[in-house]
Amino acid sequence: MDWLLTPGPVRLHPKALEALSRPQLHHRTAPAREVFLKARALLKAAFRTEGEVLILTGSGTLAMEALVKNLFAPGERVLVPVYGKFSERFYEIALEAGLEAHRLDYPYGQVPSPADVAREGYAGLLLVHSETSTGALVDLPALSRAFKEANPDALVGADMVTSLLVWEVALEAYGVDAALSGSQKGLMCPPGLGFVALSPRALERLKPRGYYLDLSRELRAQREGESAWTPAINLVGAVAAVLEEVLPRLEAHLSLKAWQNGLLYEVGEGFGLRPVPEVRSPAVAAFYLPEGIAYARVKEAFAQRGAVIAGGQGPLKGKIFRLSLMGAYDRYEALGVAALFREVLSE
Ligand code: PLP
Repeated sequence: MDWLLTPGPVRLHPKALEALSRPQLHHRTAPAREVFLKARALLKAAFRTEGEVLILTGSGTLAMEALVKNLFAPGERVLVPVYGKFSERFYEIALEAGLEAHRLDYPYGQVPSPADVAREGYAGLLLVHSETSTGALVDLPALSRAFKEANPDALVGADMVTSLLVWEVALEAYGVDAALSGSQKGLMCPPGLGFVALSPRALERLKPRGYYLDLSRELRAQREGESAWTPAINLVGAVAAVLEEVLPRLEAHLSLKAWQNGLLYEVGEGFGLRPVPEVRSPAVAAFYLPEGIAYARVKEAFAQRGAVIAGGQGPLKGKIFRLSLMGAYDRYEALGVAALFREVLSE
């Protein structure tokens, strides 16, 4: 088995594997409805919202598009700070959705400050909490607050794809109206599900559009434990099983993830590698490649030891490499990975 050190998909949680080995359920039966409702209730607790969480069959990008298209109408002005590949994607989705999207550009690795987003005249702000492409974490509560002081009626949408179950998240407490995530990152499940969390405020202001993406139709079905279309019910079962295990000990889980990622940085910096992000997300450790060392060589050195890593994206392609212990790794396995990383760097 490979050591999956990529920032998604990640090494699966044993509870996910166990859930996936159960017999197939039909999605319009009582046992499936029970699983679906349980997963929704647990996700609501994980996102920390009094609103609703919708489970969509598709990847995180589908959830990004669903959030943008159901929260904003064409022509509305939204602010989109771009500081990595996924915030760039948010901007592209906003444009495609017909919004008047204004981008604020940052060198990849840096993050916006509250003063940067305190600009009037916007209906919304779109932010990526943990920018997986650079390893940067933004101060979501401070940014939402500064933006809403300037735009009290506006809505804040956040991508929590690699912060859910990896770092503290919350909707209402953070001033976030809607958020999204996916199954294959901090939830330690296979890829295939996207989640959209809607605060009570966002629920009142939904502007549904699309067909598969129409969240009002999903809301009606999912309140009854069903979904409008055939859901990946096996994955929903895996998500419920993992959340049931992790949520009661969330604090310990988050500190483990922070410690593990810190360990990767400690090793890299110990060998003189330069970290990419200005502010570090615990989801991934990103380093610039040393002068004269190609990404392919680093990737191969890990591969020879049975480990899979990730490279750079967008402007960082060929310039950085990324390692993640967001998956189901315990303290001792993380120490093993750190030793493996040391071995690669000593080569
Ligand atoms: N947003 C962030 C922060 C991500 O890390 C990813 C995937 O890596 C996505 C969105 C897109 O998710 P998906 O690849 O599941 O469509």
